[in-house]
Amino acid sequence: MAIQAEYLWIDGSEPTQLLRSKTRILPGPVSSVDELPIWGFDGSSTNQAPGDSSDCVLKPVFMIDDPIRGGDNVIVLNEVWTVDDEPHPTNKRAKTREIAEKYAHHESWFGIEQEYTFMSDGRPHGWPVGGFPAPQGGYYCGVGADEIWGREVVEAHTAACMEAGLDISGTNAEVMMGQWEFQIGPAGPVEASDQIWVARWLLYRIAEEWDISATLDPKPVKGDWNGAGAHTNYSTKAMRESYDPIVAGAEALGKRHDIHIRNYGAGVDQRLTGLHETAPWTEFSYGVSDRGASVRIPWQTAKDGKGYLEDRRPNANMDPYVVTALIVETVCGDADGDL
Ligand code: ADP
Ligand code: MN
Ligand code: MN
Ligand code: MN
Repeated sequence: MAIQAEYLWIDGSEPTQLLRSKTRILPGPVSSVDELPIWGFDGSSTNQAPGDSSDCVLKPVFMIDDPIRGGDNVIVLNEVWTVDDEPHPTNKRAKTREIAEKYAHHESWFGIEQEYTFMSDGRPHGWPVGGFPAPQGGYYCGVGADEIWGREVVEAHTAACMEAGLDISGTNAEVMMGQWEFQIGPAGPVEASDQIWVARWLLYRIAEEWDISATLDPKPVKGDWNGAGAHTNYSTKAMRESYDPIVAGAEALGKRHDIHIRNYGAGVDQRLTGLHETAPWTEFSYGVSDRGASVRIPWQTAKDGKGYLEDRRPNANMDPYVVTALIVETVCGDADGDL
């Protein structure tokens, strides 16, 4: 029987790229991503090509069973290529593949904490018209209809990610009312990033059913309200075995603070103010258990003398391909003497 394949890709929107998708009907079930045909789209409608030469190419790279349509239907993430068979300039995955391969001997793992904010009727979900809810305090990991908004969407999204076989590792309500988080990982740089993009798409798509949208805006409400980040937890094989490589990794990240900040999502300076569990974007710091540092070494890691580090700087709207590639390049390149 014919199936529906939902082709996803990342567009050319600036300063933050967005997801697009369209449906292709295929004659029958597919068992691997290599069986899916290349496709195309109108790049002049996605800021990826001029109108007089508008065709862009979609190359399937990662496929899941479609948890929304069910049956043999699939969702497929694509890389965008030009008609000259080059990765499109907006295709950040291509470079991440190269860096992942170059430093594969370090066996990098990522766990990404994706924060986001539900919006309805033009304001954060659950917020009163024209005003503010009670100040932050009870919302983080809260329970009860006075604290929690949107749990029905979170439950449906989590179930969908699990059914699709994504490495979702947890969820929680966040510090600002209407704000939530899911985590993906641990997985390799390309794998974790592919999964974050697909999980974002599932979130937007599933929330449609409740007329709710999810935004990755890093600072959806100005003032005394938490922003939304994408803490990026990272380890190499060496870090998972001993402590010195973790300290070396944190030191290496400090040497390239500026380039990391520039690539950690539009508006990172709005979020990394030094308040609301952030370190100021102008300074690099790291410390054990320190939620006011740029990079935190979790308490358990310090106690065990091995584990991982947490880069707390990336914004919710960061591109995981860009962030994971940069971390691998900085930490492993330093270890290998390449930088
Ligand atoms: P936090 O305490 O900062 O809220 P979370 O529990 O939300 O942390 O997220 C931690 C993430 O780190 C999870 O996705 C988890 O799978 C991931 N993780 C655990 N161990 C490792 C590791 N060795 N390397 C990389 N990521 C890891
Ligand atoms: Mn978390
Ligand atoms: Mn969080
Ligand atoms: Mn965290």
